[in-house]
Amino acid sequence: MFNYLIIGSGFAGSVIAERIANILNRKVLVIEKRNHIGGNCYDYKDENNILVHKYGPHLFHTDSKDVFDYLSNFTEWHIYQHKVLAFIDGKKVPIPFNLNTLYEVFPKSLAEKLESKLTTKFQYNSKVPILDLLKEEDTDLNFLANYVYDKLFKNYTAKQWGLKPEDIDPQVTARVPICISRDNRYFTDKYQAIPKEGYTKIFERMLNHPNIKIMLNTDFKEIIDIDYEKKKIFFLGQEFKGKLIFTGMIDEFFNFNYGYLPYRSLDLKFETIDQEYYQEAPVINYPNDYDFTRITEFKYIHPTKSDRTTILKEYPKTYQPNIDIPYYPVFTKENQELYNMYKEDAEKINDLILIGRLADYKYYDMDDAIKRALEVFEERVE
Ligand SMILES: Cc1cc2nc3c(=O)[nH]c(=O)nc-3n(C[C@H](O)[C@H](O)[C@H](O)COP(=O)(O)OP(=O)(O)OC[C@H]3O[C@@H](n4cnc5c(N)ncnc54)[C@H](O)[C@@H]3O)c2cc1C
Repeated sequence: MFNYLIIGSGFAGSVIAERIANILNRKVLVIEKRNHIGGNCYDYKDENNILVHKYGPHLFHTDSKDVFDYLSNFTEWHIYQHKVLAFIDGKKVPIPFNLNTLYEVFPKSLAEKLESKLTTKFQYNSKVPILDLLKEEDTDLNFLANYVYDKLFKNYTAKQWGLKPEDIDPQVTARVPICISRDNRYFTDKYQAIPKEGYTKIFERMLNHPNIKIMLNTDFKEIIDIDYEKKKIFFLGQEFKGKLIFTGMIDEFFNFNYGYLPYRSLDLKFETIDQEYYQEAPVINYPNDYDFTRITEFKYIHPTKSDRTTILKEYPKTYQPNIDIPYYPVFTKENQELYNMYKEDAEKINDLILIGRLADYKYYDMDDAIKRALEVFEERVE
């Protein structure tokens, strides 16, 4: 009945389902364990009539015209350039750290001196990794590098990854740059926009096709069996002769045979505030204070007339298998080796295609996930 089974309805699964239905005109079943489509990009209108992102703020940005054009088949856009402030020493200042930030955190004379040194030494509009600045012999530039590293990165990284600040190695974390410009935008990609009616509508339009059936509230293990020895796939007790496209966790697919792949998770706490606006920007990061990493105010992302506003605080935490949502893969050599063992096993099953951030154990932005899905469709599905 179905030529393809797809596990997961995030961008990886939905893009491939849409391509199979429209380009190949073949039948697809999308199996999704949550009670909605869209994976982590799912959004909905809350009780304040504000469109909120259930799994944390999602801002679309890409340099790929192909990805932007492809998504534009399913949505109109609001032009939107994302801005983020960071709460440092009691002030909210623009990040990524740039020449404007200098004047917010330092007295004017010091800011002028640092700006002059930076623009003499580095090309205007370039990005200089903190790690390079930390190696500078000039005492002023070295002071600046240490200030930015200590105030912006060290404690934020510690919170995000659950580490002690003193255990953080600048060789790994200090790759983030200072921008030698007055550009306060968070991203500099050519295409930055917000889908006019939100992300969920994109998924609804992608999957709304007579060739696509969706099964929500269903873990794939309830209806699919894998004979790992014989490398065969069974669907509802019958051997399945089509292709299985899996976008869930690769270790779960193999019953955690070699052990669990570690992730970081988040506690996401939404709050209604009884005032028109709560903060000065869509996102404010808190590198050094409080236990949350950032606060998002969704009204800025999806403008809405309302006397109230909805904010979201993100508290990073260790991922507990079967309890939490796995958000961020933890990149270590050891974890990559564990992933490679699963990947080798996956490659032995002919009609299995693994794709997406959980199956590839990689941090993908939305555009990366879409691009990868379009490539995999052309290379392995078509
Ligand atoms: C907090 C946060 C903020 C982010 N912000 C941005 C941003 O601003 N901009 C940006 O470009 N990207 C952002 N991203 C990344 C973005 O969420 C991903 O690129 C995108 O979701 C990847 O899509 P995917 O299909 O690979 O995975 P997912 O969206 O995770 O989809 C996987 C789907 O598979 C389902 N599934 C898993 N296991 C099973 C199972 N056993 N049975 C059935 N179904 C299963 C899941 O329920 C899920 O729906 C953010 C990510 C996070 C965590």
